[in-house]
Amino acid sequence: MDYWIGGLVDGWMVGFWEYWIGGLLACWSFGNLAFNPDAPVKKAIPHGLKNHTELSAWFFNLRGIFLLLLPLLFSACAKKPQPLTLLPFNGQSAYALLVKQCDFGPRVPDTPAHDSCRVFLGEELKKYADQVAEQTFDEYLPGLQKTVKLTNIIASFDLKATQRILLCAHWDSRPWADQDSDTSKHRRPILGANDGASGVAVLLEIAKTLKSSPPPVGVDIILFDGEDAGLSGQNDTYLAGSRYFARTKDARFNPMMGILLDMVGGANLQLYKEVNSVNYAGAVVDRVWNLAARLGVTEFIPTPKHQVTDDHIPLLNVGIPVIDIIDFDYAYWHTAGDTPDKCSAASLEKVGRVVLAAVYNPEK
Ligand SMILES: [Zn+2]
Repeated sequence: MDYWIGGLVDGWMVGFWEYWIGGLLACWSFGNLAFNPDAPVKKAIPHGLKNHTELSAWFFNLRGIFLLLLPLLFSACAKKPQPLTLLPFNGQSAYALLVKQCDFGPRVPDTPAHDSCRVFLGEELKKYADQVAEQTFDEYLPGLQKTVKLTNIIASFDLKATQRILLCAHWDSRPWADQDSDTSKHRRPILGANDGASGVAVLLEIAKTLKSSPPPVGVDIILFDGEDAGLSGQNDTYLAGSRYFARTKDARFNPMMGILLDMVGGANLQLYKEVNSVNYAGAVVDRVWNLAARLGVTEFIPTPKHQVTDDHIPLLNVGIPVIDIIDFDYAYWHTAGDTPDKCSAASLEKVGRVVLAAVYNPEK
């Protein structure tokens, strides 16, 4: 259904000029047939071209027929949009994965919930990926005033493929609900249903598809730790996992593009183009938002809005064109209200379908 709508729109865009020019040629050709002053009554090609008048009439008729056929030739040669390879995405299943993460409690570094969720994520990805690696490191978090163990989880599909796409999200949740209107909650951790769990849920669900229907490119899913344990107003205290990954990454790891998912499950989903992504990976932004338009996913709004410091920044700094798909208008951001009931399977499904389209149609 979506493909047909997208195909019709695309077809019309190409068809517009094609049929305009074709129509003009057809009129001119018809004119040659209908109004040629030398046209004889007899239409058949003469057996013997006895005199100049007959030769001339035959030539004019031939030209008319040829020109009438030209629009058809033009139409056949015109470039048609390629149909998209579209795979289904199970929003309900992704929503269950979001709830599952929240059931551990806030995934704040150096807590039992954080540790249990790390084990779950690793086991889940091992069911589908060709390789799952844990990248563990120590990081001093000034907001927690201690050094903690953080772990990025890296799941790779088709290790031999040189053309690769990176998909990522952060799996930790913020230790403080410091945007809550109730100041008594500012020192409590958030559940992070949307801020953390939503992006991870979409990627876990995508992992199943990558296993069952291998895409034409290699894929690396990275779940970053320690994204959200930064102090408000101090950007360099955030993004611990992606900063560590970027500064230690193998020089040979250079995916053609990357997509970061953050707060993509809100029931009232609004995905404007993020400004840093537009400035530093604009071609990827355009491609993804164009795919969303072809799929009829209108929650992808083709206007730049927020400029967000997120896990794509350290990756952009080492030359990987990664974009951030983020709903920064989410009303429960960094509040105690960021719970599963504010999220929906429908939102996860829309984002999942667009990301799958980007992975399975890497050249479109
Ligand atoms: Zn956050």
